[in-house]
Amino acid sequence: MSDLYNKLKKIVSDKFVSNDIYVRHGYSRNVDIVLQGVPDIVLRPKDAQEISEILKIANEENIAVIPRGAGICEFGGSKPIGDNGIVLDMKRMNNILNLDEENLIITAEAGISWGKLNEYLCYFGLYTGCMGPGSGMSASIGGSISHHSVGGGGCAKYGACTNQLVSLEVVLPSGEIIETGSQANKFSNLPFNRFGNGPDLAGLFCGDNGIFGVKTKISLQVFPKPEHVECKTFQLPRKEREVSAKILNEIRYRGIDVYDAMYLMDLLVRITTQEGLMPMWNQLKKKRGLIFYTIEANTEVELKEKVKLLDKIMEDNKTESLGSEISDGNIARWHYEEQGHWQFYHNLWGIFPSMQPLTAECFTPINIFPKVLNDIDQWDMEHEEDMRKIFNIAGNRPITGSGPIILIDGNNVEITCGFTSFWSYFNGEIHDFIDDLNLELWKSLLERVTKHGAQWYMMGDFMSRLMVDIGAYSEEFYNLMKSIKKTLDPNMILSRGKFNFWGDK
Ligand SMILES: Cc1cc2nc3c(=O)[nH]c(=O)nc-3n(C[C@H](O)[C@H](O)[C@H](O)COP(=O)(O)OP(=O)(O)OC[C@H]3O[C@@H](n4cnc5c(N)ncnc54)[C@H](O)[C@@H]3O)c2cc1C
Repeated sequence: MSDLYNKLKKIVSDKFVSNDIYVRHGYSRNVDIVLQGVPDIVLRPKDAQEISEILKIANEENIAVIPRGAGICEFGGSKPIGDNGIVLDMKRMNNILNLDEENLIITAEAGISWGKLNEYLCYFGLYTGCMGPGSGMSASIGGSISHHSVGGGGCAKYGACTNQLVSLEVVLPSGEIIETGSQANKFSNLPFNRFGNGPDLAGLFCGDNGIFGVKTKISLQVFPKPEHVECKTFQLPRKEREVSAKILNEIRYRGIDVYDAMYLMDLLVRITTQEGLMPMWNQLKKKRGLIFYTIEANTEVELKEKVKLLDKIMEDNKTESLGSEISDGNIARWHYEEQGHWQFYHNLWGIFPSMQPLTAECFTPINIFPKVLNDIDQWDMEHEEDMRKIFNIAGNRPITGSGPIILIDGNNVEITCGFTSFWSYFNGEIHDFIDDLNLELWKSLLERVTKHGAQWYMMGDFMSRLMVDIGAYSEEFYNLMKSIKKTLDPNMILSRGKFNFWGDK
């Protein structure tokens, strides 16, 4: 065993360190299968103190450290870039530390999942509002705050999960431990506010993709779950992209505080039904695009009033209402009442077991998303020749398109789009060119979407470096980010390589 291994073992104990080849490979990938980086060592620390000691050693040894929650970043962000480094698996730190029921704030360790957190809260009639990402059954709150995640429900009303952040405990790359917001005042007992006591330093770590520090303790606002709710789904008429954008805009103009509003394109409805993943849509005669809303209220009267306004918008835009039951195709009800918000995307990722999703998640203003989706179709046609090469091996053509378009607080939407392809291993043979082609196509699609001015929130390995490579950052923004990184992490040990911040390898 190396000296480094023994030093680390002393910190976390024998049981929570490994350099076994199968463990290292188990931590070498995220959602996609084209990006891989095998770590040297995997650690499962139990608290901030242990992480602090690990980071001090990593500085002495000049070795990269990559924090990892559930490891389901879509851009390879929670595995090393290249074969090297220490992966810090945060999932052992999954305890609820305090529920301040009077002030409606929960504090938990960063490795806890949205599912576990909300299961606990529901016994008190509370929820986190924005329920994190669509992967919330396993995604950790630390990984999601590092991404500005949205998509697991509630983001039209509550915004991204970083909106409800109150305070963070972070271990800086140097090993120092800090607390932000109200907790910067050492006389404050419990976290109660993010802003004040100086600048919003919690904000520095929101969406940082794990480059500025390791989040260990997170305090979030929680909310009483309203008693009344309506969930409705509608079929869209022709020109569904433009009509859905118009509907989402009208919801905003009227100031109606929908909990969720989502547009699901026709391709998605057709393929998921065809593959038997959404039995609720089997009986739909026309497999057209759908739009749904979920609205909450504290009284029956308030609910009726809001539903009346929303239904008028839907009627004016010539949509057709589906029945109220889930079996009528009412995905809105499944989403809200049966945790469909945390299951839907898993269905999408598993459409064809032999396929690999190379995806993208970004924000755009409502008014430009139809244009972005049309251009993604155009991109697909322009790459017909490359798609053919993959078709000739796999017997199926890769699918380019968009998943749900979700309304976010403000006038934004989240677009999940991508290119779902096949891998190089097919029918017992390896076709290496497919991996290279997939990477090339993925890059090309992401560049195309970036040039529409899209704002990426999850960036990981791939997107963070692509933004730099294609010159998408303004020079001033990039330089500021770099100088903050240098100040906090002079040896660039944390998430080395992201945003092309390499340091000495
Ligand atoms: C089926 C499916 C559905 C998804 N749906 C969505 C969605 O709706 N919306 C969405 O935003 N994303 C979605 N994702 C992507 C991803 O799951 C989320 O972004 C999620 O928030 C990541 O959480 P995680 O715990 O897996 O983070 P990881 O992938 O482990 O880490 C994410 C990033 O944060 C860093 N990090 C992790 N923990 C810490 C920590 N404690 N301190 C500092 N840095 C840390 C990592 O280094 C990495 O850069 C989906 C993925 C899948 C497979």
